[in-house]
Parts: sequence; structure tokens; C-alpha cells
Amino acid sequence: MSRIAYVNGRYRPHRDARVHVEDRGYQFADGVYEVCEVREARLVDERRHMARLVRSLGELRIGLPMPLSALSVVLHETVRRNRVRNGIVYVEITRGVARRDFAFPPPGTTPSIVVTARSLDSAKAENTAAEGIAVITLAETRWARPDIKSVSLLPNVLAKQAAREAGAREAWLVDAHGFVTEGASSNAWIITAGGEVVTRPADHSILSGISRAVVLDALAAKGLPFTERPFTVAEAKAAREAFITAASQIVQPVVSIDGTPVGDGRPGPLALMLRREFHRHAEFT
Ligand code: PLP
Repeated sequence: MSRIAYVNGRYRPHRDARVHVEDRGYQFADGVYEVCEVREARLVDERRHMARLVRSLGELRIGLPMPLSALSVVLHETVRRNRVRNGIVYVEITRGVARRDFAFPPPGTTPSIVVTARSLDSAKAENTAAEGIAVITLAETRWARPDIKSVSLLPNVLAKQAAREAGAREAWLVDAHGFVTEGASSNAWIITAGGEVVTRPADHSILSGISRAVVLDALAAKGLPFTERPFTVAEAKAAREAFITAASQIVQPVVSIDGTPVGDGRPGPLALMLRREFHRHAEFT
């Protein structure tokens, strides 16, 4: 089946979908993005993802190229045209096309928008969850505003590649004080030996994950206590369980950190329960 991409007002065959050579996203990574999970052909937590998109755009003073209601139609239509039942939909908005100049382009420059969608193999994701994933730790080298979901992802790219070369699926980034910030493309969680569920507070040092918010809601609904505080690598290695959250992966148990097994080296029961229950606490549109 041929794939379709939405580019600046038109649905194009994926192989012909193009942005301009002087798009500021291409030249300066001057743009933001969102990824929503698609489940049974519906968007998961669109409202919260769009609220974060609007916030990211606002922080960078990039305009929204169309009303959110129209964007919602484009997201659903891109999912429909690509016949995605289970997968992801991606939206990227950049500051637009202009003669290359570091400072903002002239007022009136239209932001560019691209939407793509693709299927993911749900059975494969379930197998991964049943086995759990390995993570490595690396020094945090990103800028001071990872709370903005910017397409400027070079440190994340290098961290993910380092993980892959080490036989791991994710890299946890560690700040100057020895505390884990988050994964290269996910939020990081532990359950301490004492049973405390811990994740870093969503300040400027991490992306405020939508899946993170869903898991916090799930924990609250179940009456399970959690603490939003930074944790160290040593604490994570001594934890009973660990896991990551992201829209494309929901909840994935972590079974080793830098080669050290977490708990008994198998996916933990709480992480697996949160994975199973996740969509009961998400919104579908
Ligand atoms: N942190 C980073 C750096 C990410 O790239 C992502 C998702 O891609 C997340 C956290 C998780 O965010 P969400 O749950 O909204 O997908």
C-alpha cells in the first residue's frame, strides 16, 4: 500500500513528499513536533499532545499554521489514508521557509507543517515488553530546555546510537549531579526496593511526557503512592523495577542498566500492570 504524507496543505505520495531546501527546520532544526499513538485507528491523548504542541510553539514564538480543529482533521485523515490501525502519527511544524539568516524570518513567514503516519507491529512490541529492555547511561549533553519538544535532537540521536551499539534499547541521560534526567526518547521511572514509584519532576530538565502523565493518573486511580523526585544511577541499579514511558512504546519494562540486572532481571509486575492498564486512563479521539 502506498504511503501518504500531508505537506503544507496537500496530501502527497510519501515518496514525492518534499520540504523546501531553505526550510528553517532543515537548516536550523527550528521547529517542534509531536508523536501520538494510534490504536484501533483512533488517536490516543490527542488533546494533551496538542496542548503540548501549542506550548512548544509558544515557547519558540512559532505560529500554529492552522486552527487545532483543522489540525485534528488532518491528523485523522493522514491516519485514514495510510490505513493505520496501530501505529503512530507524527506532526512537525517549523518556522517556515526564508533566506538563511539565524534571526527570525520576516513577519508573515508561514510556518511549515508535515504530518505522516505509519503502522507499528503490536505483536513485536508485546514481545519486547515480555522480555524487557536494556538501557545504558550517558552524560546529559542536551540544551537547558528539553521541556520544549524541539526537532533539534542531535544529542538524542547520538545517545540512541550509543545504546544500540551497546546492545541496549534506550540511553538514560545523567545530569551533572548524577541524577537521571530521562531517556533519549522516553521518560525514566524506577520502583525502589522499598516499593516507592519514582520519576523526575517535569521541570525544564525533561520533556513532560504525555504517557508519563497517563501513568501518574493510573497510579493515582489505583491508590498507589508515587514520588516525583530525581533519582541517581546507583538508586536505579538497586531498584526493584524500572521502566520507560513514551507514546510509541507506552510502558516498557527495563531489565538491565549498564549491564546490571534490575531486580531479578525480568520485567517487573508493576511495570507490566501499568502497561496492561495504560489505555484505560488515556483518551481516544
Ligand atoms: N522524553 C523524550 C526526550 C522524548 O523524546 C519522549 C517521546 O518521544 C518522551 C520523553 C515521552 O513523551 P510522550 O510520553 O509524550 O511520548
